[in-house]
Amino acid sequence: MTAVDSVKTLCPYCGVGCGLEVLASPQSETAVDGQDQSEHLWKVRGDRAHPSSQGMVCVKGATIAEALNKDRLLYPMIRDSLDEEFRRASWDQALELITSRIQTVLSTQGANGVCMYGSGQLQTEDYYIAQKFLKGCLGTNNFDSNSRLCMSSAVAGYVQSLGSDGPPCCYEDLDLTDCVFLIGANTAECHPIVHNRLQKYHKKNCNVKMVVVDPRRTKTAEDADLHLAIQPGTDIDLLNGIAHLLLRWDCVDADFIANRTEGFLEFAEVTQHYSPDVVSERCGISVNDLELAARWWAESNRVLSLWSMGVNQSSEGTAKVRAVINLHLMTGQIGKPGAGPFSLTGQPNAMGGRETGGLCNLLPGYRHVKFPEQRAELEQFWGVPAGRISPDWGRTAWDIITGLESDDVGLLWIVATNPAVSLPDLERAKAALRRSPFTIQQDAYYPTETAKFAHVLLPAAQWGEKTGIMTNSERTVTLCQAFCSPPGEARADWEIIAEVACRLGFADKFPFTNSADVFAEYVQLTQGRVCDMSGLSHERLRQEGPLQWPIPKEESGEELTTQIYNPDEFHQKAAKPAKRLYTNHQFPTANGRARFSAAHSRGLAEPPDSAYPFVLTTGRLYGHWHTQTRTGRIEKIRQMYPHPFLEIHPRDAARIGVEDHSLIEVRSRRGVARLPAKVTAAISPGTVFVPIHWGELWADQAEANAMTQEKSCPDSKQPELKACAVQLTPVPTEAVKTDYTLFTKTLETSSVSLPL
Ligand code: SF4
Repeated sequence: MTAVDSVKTLCPYCGVGCGLEVLASPQSETAVDGQDQSEHLWKVRGDRAHPSSQGMVCVKGATIAEALNKDRLLYPMIRDSLDEEFRRASWDQALELITSRIQTVLSTQGANGVCMYGSGQLQTEDYYIAQKFLKGCLGTNNFDSNSRLCMSSAVAGYVQSLGSDGPPCCYEDLDLTDCVFLIGANTAECHPIVHNRLQKYHKKNCNVKMVVVDPRRTKTAEDADLHLAIQPGTDIDLLNGIAHLLLRWDCVDADFIANRTEGFLEFAEVTQHYSPDVVSERCGISVNDLELAARWWAESNRVLSLWSMGVNQSSEGTAKVRAVINLHLMTGQIGKPGAGPFSLTGQPNAMGGRETGGLCNLLPGYRHVKFPEQRAELEQFWGVPAGRISPDWGRTAWDIITGLESDDVGLLWIVATNPAVSLPDLERAKAALRRSPFTIQQDAYYPTETAKFAHVLLPAAQWGEKTGIMTNSERTVTLCQAFCSPPGEARADWEIIAEVACRLGFADKFPFTNSADVFAEYVQLTQGRVCDMSGLSHERLRQEGPLQWPIPKEESGEELTTQIYNPDEFHQKAAKPAKRLYTNHQFPTANGRARFSAAHSRGLAEPPDSAYPFVLTTGRLYGHWHTQTRTGRIEKIRQMYPHPFLEIHPRDAARIGVEDHSLIEVRSRRGVARLPAKVTAAISPGTVFVPIHWGELWADQAEANAMTQEKSCPDSKQPELKACAVQLTPVPTEAVKTDYTLFTKTLETSSVSLPL
């Protein structure tokens, strides 16, 4: 591939989805292959023409090019057991080995013995090929992704309340709202460009209210007019408490409720149990603050709620999402500018994963495995036998772990994710990975913590090295264009999966020669669906730039799908992007009405007790991304965060006898970590915070997930990563003012290179 002067693409980190423009310097022409590319060869800047970000980027986007050339996995590597060293293999050897292992598992355990675990880092084409291979060809729904840990509650909440997945809002609403209600979202650190935009608008418009609900006084909370530092696990109490007041004050949209919704009476009955006194007591906030939040909601013409992992990562995550949506439905705050329930996705293409069916309960085009007619549509389209697609959920992320424990999983294929750091109850998860009979890890980098558990390593092309599609939180679809060749023998994820499928006898299903062809097939499956992007192609996106779905085909041919709603009513007929969903207040449910939920708060799955008296909450930091696979290799970001830490309130620190920088042992019923204390009033008493970014590659005994739990939401199966009970013990021998830069490991590229 030839290096070019300027290429438009997308930041591959968070779900904000900022547009990037990559400029090549002259040196790059001689250094596009292999590890030799030096980090200054690609200059990255914000793409001013990108509608979602308008030229803005945060530190992650600005430094992304530095991660292209560090510690790349260059060749396929194999080994017979985890005790052995890896040895280099050809692609042919590696793929033959994988093909033969899959055939063995198919004949001994059946298709459900095969699992693939993917990632919101994948492009839409990668996702789609994996669904077609696993669900359509092999006949197993065992494809799950790390989005299960991130936003599956948002998916379930939208589907149950509104009839379909799909955030109804767009970023323009950030500039049009009268009141923004952030719950469980630290946008200043986790979605920085959304936060910048919001902050700018808020500062300019002093009448606009900003409410932040978070147990921590985060950077986001510092910008708020009202910070509700609720006790962990009391979100539903708060939301039902606000609903109680709105009803008491008769500040509801009676017409909207009567004509556009169902289930209101049951919901109203539930809210009667959430009087201000009760809610104040449970949430640990004043009645005045509760009333102020409700008053602002009631008095604002346009209310926009934003949420993220603080709501989703919960054993009642779906119920929390629905409790947020309830407030919008009772006040008619949906389907209009500046208003609506807006879930911010964590990863760059988590939305694309949802659209292509990249979870073990979904199928492409916002379909679900449980509906016979939707399975039949896919089987017909893919040309596979009727009944090939299973009606049952496949294995979720955690079910893969239990499947390894019970020997029901015979082959695990991990793509672009690092479960040896990111899964909950990490020691148990690692023990399960250790006993896997055959694990493939397909990744751009080596080493990663998960490589330790792999039998085969497959080098993947990453950002900038392959062309494909990503969808961001506001449904904007961007063509991410390649601007350099993959190093060594790395290949695009979809190509690798498709080649294995071909070797297994499904060559007629995978005739694709490039990712544009893959996308062209995929978008046909969206026609007439809520996420209709049948009017899109690589070429159109290249010509016109990023576009928001729904964007149907200009002249629709025959309808592909059985409709659960009338698409003409639902989408505007014109084949142009729609900024917002549900502007006509028709919802894609059987009767066109949105549904209230009537759920009581159940609280934390593991509340604190006398043995484990603190609540541990976890989260991200501004500069780092997930398990540091990229950001840990970028010097500037490493310098921003020289070591992991545990935030503790001064009162708790005094009570257990630790000072700032003292080492604390934090222990749950599942695992333990040792972290330097960061004594700060930003955290509520009784709660401690640990960032999620440090796996064993980057620090010793600093894994947040050593302590977290697998207990999950019954609807979304998303684990409660945000809260578990822990005990804290000072570590006396190493206490006080240790040089904690020693705490963090430095990777030396030369010491970790694979044998060639
Ligand atoms: S806000 Fe997110 S998408 Fe934008 S530059 Fe930062 S990490 Fe990338």
